[in-house]
Amino acid sequence: MNGKALAARIREEVAAEVAGLRPIGLATVLVGDDPASDVYIRLKHKASLEVGIESRDVRLPATITESELLERVGELNADESVDGILVQLPLPHGLDESRVIVAIDPIKDVDGLHPFNAGQLLLDRPTFVGATPLGVLALLDEYGVDLVGATAVVIGRSDIVGKPAALLLLQRHATVTVCHSRTRDLAAEVARADVVVAAVGVPGLVRADWVKKGATVIDVGITRAEGALVGDVEPAAAERAGLLTPVPGGVGPMTIAMLLRNAVKAARYRSRELAFPAS
Ligand code: NAP
Repeated sequence: MNGKALAARIREEVAAEVAGLRPIGLATVLVGDDPASDVYIRLKHKASLEVGIESRDVRLPATITESELLERVGELNADESVDGILVQLPLPHGLDESRVIVAIDPIKDVDGLHPFNAGQLLLDRPTFVGATPLGVLALLDEYGVDLVGATAVVIGRSDIVGKPAALLLLQRHATVTVCHSRTRDLAAEVARADVVVAAVGVPGLVRADWVKKGATVIDVGITRAEGALVGDVEPAAAERAGLLTPVPGGVGPMTIAMLLRNAVKAARYRSRELAFPAS
């Protein structure tokens, strides 16, 4: 499954949409100097600029106190030129992520992590859903994967990927199992899945011979190993899977493309072109 090609198309669509709208602002907040987070932030800004979204790169020292950070988030909430706010996670030790996330105005929460937006997804009334799970669904749709009644296994239960991906699949009428580090027999769960979404961060965790013949496998995992990026699924799974996303070039580019879409959605909510439910 070619995430790079689909993402390029979505970015073109977003660029065309942005050209017909008022200026759109996306602010990212990076606390500390984690090199991986720095790479992600740079990619997000480059992609934003390319489609005409004005991005603001807020960099704060790891020594910042929680109340100072909350104050900065409050400033971005109040800033009329900012439509979307993304706080890059993980935050350095000592800063409470849940308190920071809850401080983001839900109408600007392009990562869909605020309890209001997370709850909307749970209740089948999605507002903002995180870019990575949206990217997973967009890939499944692009390749015409039939989700109705399909057995889907999501490995990983994070708030940012696993849980929302599972809810999106459930909403599309798949029969969903969520696996995690305490799952007793991961091999057996994967073996019966028509659709596997692996979002763990353990290279090669999903063994090629676990995959059911013809299954669709989405590999969200990204781990840097010896200078290369590797996924959670053994590459040899390609021999058994009907469809498989590569790493890199699968979900990664989709995440960026869907973030841009979420920024446009934020602008539409804020200009009341779309109704944002009262929170
Ligand atoms: P996370 O918060 O660390 O969650 C990892 C999940 O994997 C947890 O639920 C954990 O279970 C589970 N897990 C750990 N070891 C396991 C094992 N041996 N068997 C089964 N489950 C296991 O990570 P995340 O933020 O969701 O990210 C997951 C991966 O996706 C990472 O590699 C990350 O870099 C990548 N990612 C990629 C993109 C992209 O754009 N492609 C975007 C976001 C994330 P417990 O809950 O029991 O601990």
